[in-house]
Amino acid sequence: MLEDDTTNISLIGIYGGTFDPLHYGHLRIAEELVESIGFSKLYFIPSGSPRLRQAPGASMYHRVAMLRAAIQGNAKFTVDEREIHRSGESRSVVTLRELKHEFAENVVLCFLMGMDVFVKLPDWYCWRELFKLCHIVIVDRPGCIFLNNKNHLSEELNREVLHRQATHANELKNTYSGRVLTVPTTMLDISATLIRDNIANKKSIRYLLPDMVLEYIETNHLYFPKNFKALK
Ligand code: ATP
Repeated sequence: MLEDDTTNISLIGIYGGTFDPLHYGHLRIAEELVESIGFSKLYFIPSGSPRLRQAPGASMYHRVAMLRAAIQGNAKFTVDEREIHRSGESRSVVTLRELKHEFAENVVLCFLMGMDVFVKLPDWYCWRELFKLCHIVIVDRPGCIFLNNKNHLSEELNREVLHRQATHANELKNTYSGRVLTVPTTMLDISATLIRDNIANKKSIRYLLPDMVLEYIETNHLYFPKNFKALK
């Protein structure tokens, strides 16, 4: 791509995850990346059966419903359900191949992930192909802070990253795929595990996730131990 062509380029964020449940850690990062990178749209793509982790605590139906409730009113956010409708294990590279095929030529896909996920990339199915399909945008995460310090990456991942690093979001428009950009965002030490554990231990989850999601969890008795009364 010639630098002069970049005015027509549209950057789209792809945010995969289990979202079991969605929380403010996810939402805040998504919001900040839309702003700082200038995504025209950000797609949340909940995984159906994650390949490399335990089965989710809530069904795909509930996880999607919580996501939809949380992002309503945000015109830049949307939910793509393809992975939950696909049979077998969820594989991001399959999703990215499909998206690449579906979007117009001037669309550049940027796959978002926390550093905790990025360090495990070599475990993913056909992980190197991702660099042919999209850019990767990484955010640090409390407990996993390696911003600009890739010493913690495995040798094979480091080798891939070394020649791919971008230093500014503008560089993501100069080529269709293959760059790796680490972006500073507000660090929120929130995880879905913390939320599920709090529920199991009868502790509050208020202010860790949107009220709508909290209410959905209560109404549908998700993650609840037996005989549990209230979360707030
Ligand atoms: P769990 O605790 O069940 O593993 P999680 O909170 O990590 O869940 P996921 O849905 O697995 O949430 O994460 C989806 C993506 O969001 C991953 O790339 C993960 O690194 C990132 N992410 C989740 N929470 C945060 C956070 N608080 N800060 C930065 N990145 C986050």
